[in-house]
Amino acid sequence: MMVDLQTQYATIQGEIDDAVHKVMRDCDFINGAKVQEFGESLAAFTGSKHAVCCANGTDALQIALMALDLNKGDELIMPAFCYAAAVEVTAFLGLKAVLVDVDPATYNIDARKIEAAISNKTRAIIPVHLFGQSCDMLPINNICKKNNLIIIEDNAQSLGAVYSFPDGEKKQTGTMGNIGTLSFFPTKNLACYGDGGAMLCNDDKVAAKLKMIASHGQSKKYQHDIIGCNSRLDTLQAAILSVKLPYLNQYAARRQAAAAYYKKGLEGLENEILMPLEAPFSTHVFHQFTMQILHSRREQLKAFLQKEGIPSMVYYPIPLHKQKAYENLVCASGSLKHSDMLCKTVLSLPMHSELENKQMDFIIEKIHAFFGSKII
Ligand SMILES: *Cc1c(COP(=O)(O)O)cnc(C)c1O
Repeated sequence: MMVDLQTQYATIQGEIDDAVHKVMRDCDFINGAKVQEFGESLAAFTGSKHAVCCANGTDALQIALMALDLNKGDELIMPAFCYAAAVEVTAFLGLKAVLVDVDPATYNIDARKIEAAISNKTRAIIPVHLFGQSCDMLPINNICKKNNLIIIEDNAQSLGAVYSFPDGEKKQTGTMGNIGTLSFFPTKNLACYGDGGAMLCNDDKVAAKLKMIASHGQSKKYQHDIIGCNSRLDTLQAAILSVKLPYLNQYAARRQAAAAYYKKGLEGLENEILMPLEAPFSTHVFHQFTMQILHSRREQLKAFLQKEGIPSMVYYPIPLHKQKAYENLVCASGSLKHSDMLCKTVLSLPMHSELENKQMDFIIEKIHAFFGSKII
């Protein structure tokens, strides 16, 4: 299994069951007390002034963009190698995604390539904090200040990661731009038992607008002031998330320990595999443990592992400029060669908070066996 939700549930079953049953006994299903309570805990956890809950991480991005008063044809800069949600909502809203290449070492948008992508139509940048670590936010913040651009951080994968500014200031991913978006999809680091999402922001007015858009654009019941949508976090999911949030740092520590164990176990394969890099400016909460398999051997290794009963996944096999749906809706800024290359080389191993050393020992042994090396 790539993630083991059953074992995690078993460790907190009493607390989860009590929280769920309470919501059911109270029949407090829509916008219940737990939604407000979870939003407040999430804001406190991240250090953000506001956390507005919504139905999922894709909606969070869409609502964030709807709150910006953008015009059709306005341009948003985002990475070419990542999950499709940011490009999808950009296209859906009639905006243009301008794709920038990623840094092959961190898999995140290459801040050095952003300025060349800016035109007089550029309105915002969407850094996506991929696989569990922060984009390099200082240069991105500086570029945005200089060019008067908005930052929407897609933080679906990296909740809890901390970025260190050179002056020593530390901030969590999702709190360094104007709005940070989150997903609580069951495989994310903070996961509910269905769909869930949220938006972080520090500006009172923006927070109120996000809330309004997520609730049919209503300023009060049956008074619709702007066009919105219906995007609610279920009270049941909020109750589950309230139980799990206090465990998030502990879960991250388990993931970090597992990543260190993989790295140690796979030493000696430097000519065959590039391990995920931990950037000096960010902690890494290892949403994924994503390696690069060299010499065009990824598919072979993946098939070999599958035969041994070991799951592995390719996040992501197709870069966003090569996706059929967005063909005419995105444009490339400069070469996207690293994005193209990563789609051919990346492979993610099982990674979750319940991973045991003996499971990793088996995976490590089989990878060494594939490359024909001896384990020292
Ligand atoms: C999961 C994910 C999303 C979408 O979240 P959903 O809750 O599934 O809508 C958006 N962006 C990234 C980077 C993701 O990993």
